Amino acid sequence: MKFPGASEFRKTLKHDTAALLDSVLDAAESRGLAIYAVGGPVRDLLLGKAIHDVDLLLETGDAVALATLAAPPDARVTRHDRFGTVRLQLGSAAVDLSVARRETYAQMGALPRVEPGSLEEDLARRDFTVNALALPLSSQAQREHSGIVDLADGIADLAGGHLRILHPRSFHDDPTRVLRAARLVPRLGLSLTRGSRTALRDALRDGVFGRVSGDRLRRELVKAFDDAQHGLDPSRVLRLLSNWHVLGALEPGLDLPRAAVVPLRRLGRAIASPPWRSSRWRSWVSGLSIWLAPASPALRRRTLQRFSVRGEVAQAISRFPKASGGWLAALPRARGRGAVDALLDPLSEEELYALYSIAESKLRGRIARFAIEDRMRRAPISGEDLLEIGLEGPVVGRALKRVRIAYLDGALQNRDEAITLAREIARRRVTSKGKAVAKAKRC
Ligand code: ATP
Ligand code: MG
Repeated sequence: MKFPGASEFRKTLKHDTAALLDSVLDAAESRGLAIYAVGGPVRDLLLGKAIHDVDLLLETGDAVALATLAAPPDARVTRHDRFGTVRLQLGSAAVDLSVARRETYAQMGALPRVEPGSLEEDLARRDFTVNALALPLSSQAQREHSGIVDLADGIADLAGGHLRILHPRSFHDDPTRVLRAARLVPRLGLSLTRGSRTALRDALRDGVFGRVSGDRLRRELVKAFDDAQHGLDPSRVLRLLSNWHVLGALEPGLDLPRAAVVPLRRLGRAIASPPWRSSRWRSWVSGLSIWLAPASPALRRRTLQRFSVRGEVAQAISRFPKASGGWLAALPRARGRGAVDALLDPLSEEELYALYSIAESKLRGRIARFAIEDRMRRAPISGEDLLEIGLEGPVVGRALKRVRIAYLDGALQNRDEAITLAREIARRRVTSKGKAVAKAKRC
């Protein structure tokens, strides 16, 4: 069987990514360096799937120096970690470059000791056989290896639909690989092999998650929601983790409640093709809000602590079950677009998407109409206009709110009508205050 080579790899990339890769390869050629595509992109090439990230491996040399030499004008070179991993970025195109290394695990779950190593050692430290693959790109690499380097039979595993760890202690060395497995199984349509499941059971029996920091766990969870951009259903990731008894090992009592499945799936679809655009939306916050909503407040609090979710995000997730109940009850009663706007305007983007995902179809339509159309619309007057006509104090905010509602309901169209309404509200307020004072005097 003929496997794809460097030119097929290049052809699958988007034009600007291919151009960036060419600059790196030119620089590598000029230095006679061996450079490979490694891991995810080789796997995805073999599967005929779109390549999202281009991960490159330099067998020896200095990745920062190579990226700097390769960088076209305006490109950015960002150093990622202390091991010399670097990202070269130009517009929306990016490639990641690292140097081959060897890892040794001194202690279960702790970060490994890292030293420079050979290509083979770099492949041997990887998570799964299907990721322990390298495709020679530069002439030097092609001289060293005539085709895809596959030391652990990853190509056969891909063909057979198997996700397999490289050695039985792999999950002990790095338990976050379990969370990667739960993402890769549905994403790639593979299943975890029997041997890997035994290794997982052994790792759980040995309490490996006890030593994994909340930050590392949360970062992996965030990826389950990020990957929804490419069609992954986050509820499938959590379902697998539940079936594998991982959720309960992370936090006793933690599970995937039935009520959360459909909303999480809907959230996944919204991440893949957002019904409305939002520049800053942390989809994982919506995800955790939905997932943890059916749990008891105590379990929710412990889980957030376990994933090191703190501060304002933790508060928002904790508030969501009660708050969303209120919003869902108020939405059907909100008469008109102005009332819906007044109800939903205070919600964060994360809350809005979470609410959208748990709401039934009719209410989703209202939420989407608010998010797509109404919240972008500007009322014909501002606070300054009201100050100019002599209004001041709390009545300004109240009048603006009423004007906005009337405007979205179509009850007023322009600035003059808006000012008339604002004056009316101010006058009514003065009269009702006067009445209140008079009433108080009579008592
Ligand atoms: P994606 O398409 O999501 O980028 P990927 O497999 O490339 O998939 P990355 O997170 O980019 O995933 O990781 C790059 C490579 O690094 C993986 O292919 C894998 O070989 C290796 N890797 C990542 N995390 C681990 C880990 N915890 N243990 C061992 N190897 C890992
Ligand atoms: Mg990658």
